[in-house]
Amino acid sequence: MRVLLAEDDPMIGASVRQGLRQDGFAVDWVEDGRAAELALAEHAHDAIVLDLGLPKRAGVDVLGAMRRSGDTRPVLILTARDAVADRVAGLDAGADDYVVKPFDLNELSARLRALLRRGAGRAAPLLAHGEVELNPATREVRLRGDPLALSPREFALLEALLARPGAILSRAQLEDKLYGWSDPVESNAVEVHIHALRKKLGADFIRNVRGVGWMVAKVPASA
Ligand code: CA
Repeated sequence: MRVLLAEDDPMIGASVRQGLRQDGFAVDWVEDGRAAELALAEHAHDAIVLDLGLPKRAGVDVLGAMRRSGDTRPVLILTARDAVADRVAGLDAGADDYVVKPFDLNELSARLRALLRRGAGRAAPLLAHGEVELNPATREVRLRGDPLALSPREFALLEALLARPGAILSRAQLEDKLYGWSDPVESNAVEVHIHALRKKLGADFIRNVRGVGWMVAKVPASA
């Protein structure tokens, strides 16, 4: 899952980026409200972590413009401890959740996972499909109940596919899930990781739709 982080405080920004990366998110970090709007226009991000006190354009204005344009992606706002009015304004402008600075990085990750789940219409924390079960919180995958070792990028690909069974995801869409701006994109990486996943999960689990992309079936083959 790819997250846009808009935060002008260099220390907070760096630690949030590092913490979210450790939890398996691809993170793009911008430091002002205008840069956030430019990044949002790409529509590459699954969720936004938005500081309200941003230079050039206030976070609440960025958020208001998103919602007015029909952008429903989950937004989690970062606010100062004493800024109750900001929090209220943020929630009223369409934020889905908030954390108060200073916050715990594990809590931020957990709240983001919850927003992404709800955004996908799922209440359960596990992504289960046939004999495969993926836990975004613990980053564990099980096949027929047995733990399966996946590389971080294999995990990210499988998570993206399992989040939308029946949907064909293109190479560009899958690359978006794997890489932030500052990560070098490896050529053929998607094919290489899909190949590895098929070896581990069975060749039929991930289908290639020639020239279009990859998918897992809407109804699990083994269900
Ligand atoms: Ca700030």
